[in-house]
Amino acid sequence: MDLKGKHAIVTGGGTGIGLAVAKALVAEGVEVTITGRRLEVLKEVAEPGMHPMVMDVTDEQQIIDATQAAVDARGPIQICVANAGIAEGRKLHKTSSEFWRKIMATNLDGCFYTVRESLKSMTDTDYGRVIAISSIAGLRGSAGAGAYAASKHGVIGMIRSFAEDFLGKPYTFNSICPGYVDTPIVTRNTDAISQRAGVSEAEARDMMVSLNRHKKLILPEEIAATALWLCNPACESVNGSEIAIGGGQI
Ligand code: NDP
Repeated sequence: MDLKGKHAIVTGGGTGIGLAVAKALVAEGVEVTITGRRLEVLKEVAEPGMHPMVMDVTDEQQIIDATQAAVDARGPIQICVANAGIAEGRKLHKTSSEFWRKIMATNLDGCFYTVRESLKSMTDTDYGRVIAISSIAGLRGSAGAGAYAASKHGVIGMIRSFAEDFLGKPYTFNSICPGYVDTPIVTRNTDAISQRAGVSEAEARDMMVSLNRHKKLILPEEIAATALWLCNPACESVNGSEIAIGGGQI
């Protein structure tokens, strides 16, 4: 697979899954714009070939401006990894409209604007890959995290629809649906999960591990390997799909 010199954007590329994907792409010679809200974090992790850029995905105008600036600097975006997201939980009947909007604005609106803006330059080229990081929670209900689950279901429906809109064109659109991955989101949420379930933090982590039939948290590199595989030109018929990486948790 020759991806050398192509330009990718990875939102939330400074940590966790996004950083692992950025590293995998850079290793293939891709120039990767990594985005997030914290420039210092992006600069600290950036390797040669990674280009930090501040972009808050809840701010439509910032996405429009940042993606245009990235295109001006490095050419058309041919790989778009819409990964930025937040995972916070509330039982749905105790979810305020403010909390609901916060989750949707980041996980669903942010994904939509990122993909829409990336397509502006991608569609001038003869190759494109759009990969959204949804979740196992995008494939089923999620106790205590209904807004999150709804946002991730939305991502899947949107990505399937992008695929339909571009059928016959050389661009593919797929969602990756991870189970529990060992990243800062899981570390941050261990406390919240333990409170919801009324167990200790260690027990909360054990519960997440036990849902995975391999009895482990998934590694970010496992998600990155699948994202890289989707970038392979030979994978052009994998389109409008969801790939669950849940260690058997579905
Ligand atoms: P991280 O917390 O490490 O990554 C989340 C990233 O999103 C951060 O880099 C963060 O950067 C960025 N981000 C959050 N809000 C915004 C915003 N408003 N604007 C721009 N960037 C933002 O956790 P993960 O790597 O695990 O999460 C990546 C994705 O994977 C998320 O969409 C998550 O829902 C999904 N996922 C994770 C699972 C897991 O178990 N870890 C399971 C299933 C799905 P910054 O704070 O600097 O802005």
